[in-house]
Amino acid sequence: MVLLNDFARQWAEVGEEATQVFARFGASAWYILGQGVRSFETNLAANWQLPHAVGVASGLDALEIALRALNLQPGQEVLTTPLSAFATTLAILRAGGRPVFCDIDESGLLDLQQAAQAFTAHPNLRFFLPVHLYGFACNATVLDQLQQQFQLQLVEDCAQSIGNGSGLVGHFAATSFYPTKNLGAFGDAGALLTASPELAVRAQSLRDYGQSAKYVHSELGLNSRLDELQAQLLDQVLLPRLASWTARRRQIAAYYQSNLQNPHVTLVPDPSPGRSCWHLFPILAPLGKKAALQAWCRQRGVQTGEHYPLPIPDQPAMASASWRAVGPLPRVREFCQRQLSLPIHPFLTQAELEQVVKTLNEWPGQ
Ligand SMILES: *Cc1c(COP(=O)(O)O)cnc(C)c1O
Repeated sequence: MVLLNDFARQWAEVGEEATQVFARFGASAWYILGQGVRSFETNLAANWQLPHAVGVASGLDALEIALRALNLQPGQEVLTTPLSAFATTLAILRAGGRPVFCDIDESGLLDLQQAAQAFTAHPNLRFFLPVHLYGFACNATVLDQLQQQFQLQLVEDCAQSIGNGSGLVGHFAATSFYPTKNLGAFGDAGALLTASPELAVRAQSLRDYGQSAKYVHSELGLNSRLDELQAQLLDQVLLPRLASWTARRRQIAAYYQSNLQNPHVTLVPDPSPGRSCWHLFPILAPLGKKAALQAWCRQRGVQTGEHYPLPIPDQPAMASASWRAVGPLPRVREFCQRQLSLPIHPFLTQAELEQVVKTLNEWPGQ
């Protein structure tokens, strides 16, 4: 089976180094917020070209802490996308906010034109949480313009976009090191990045029970510290490989783009050619044919994913949450019915890429 993620091959590459890191970590006898977290934060910030990084326990927490650090008030509205991991919306709700959804564009990203209309029509909308989905980058110039024009508090969800140059215009970039992500830890982890020293300090306090100094609790925070062991593994084993792993993902995407040729299979257009870090490789089946294409691939040994099968506002948990949409969201509903993801992890072999292409190209469209 050609897998969407191959953690066994990743371990074959990094296992020995990771085991040495674990041995040193254990012997160091310092397990929470040690030099590993500080070193990883320094190196991640340098890699991202932002001055401050704050390690936290997950991508979900990174988003919640970002919104709370920006003083989101109970019931205050946050404009976001209906096409993302559920965590994007869950973070808004956990921070006490009210999600407002607008539709997506042809690449599956939040439609920035519709967003501009929403900000014009609703001057109370002051928070904005776009997602750089699939590793594509939302248009930074437009994000910056919207932020200036409407004086927005902007949090960029970079959980899928590490290494594509996104996250530089908002007050915060929030990211995840969930194992499937491009920089995936051996467990849960996440981080916030910011240009603001004040916001970095606030996020450090919020991740650690709201402590501003030892045993001084200035506000009600979380326990969302980045685990020291995960930080050391990220810092010493995984981050040093990110550039070459991203280069390999780009190579695979280019191979798919030039070799996939089936009139029934549509590639989702890359809005920022050359920049995507290709967290996922999304394609569209004809309407009503997604299950047939997925079954065809499975029978020929190619695993596919769905990102995502349902728009977030259609999830059962949203029935009891407070939210609204700026319109009827027709594009995201159709997109979810058609979208599949192809394997694009950096450990794929050339023979596997050929198998994926042959499988897709031979699909008769039924
Ligand atoms: C994975 C992901 C998250 C959540 O990250 P966790 O570390 O799993 O909490 C948030 N947003 C997006 C777009 C994601 O892909």
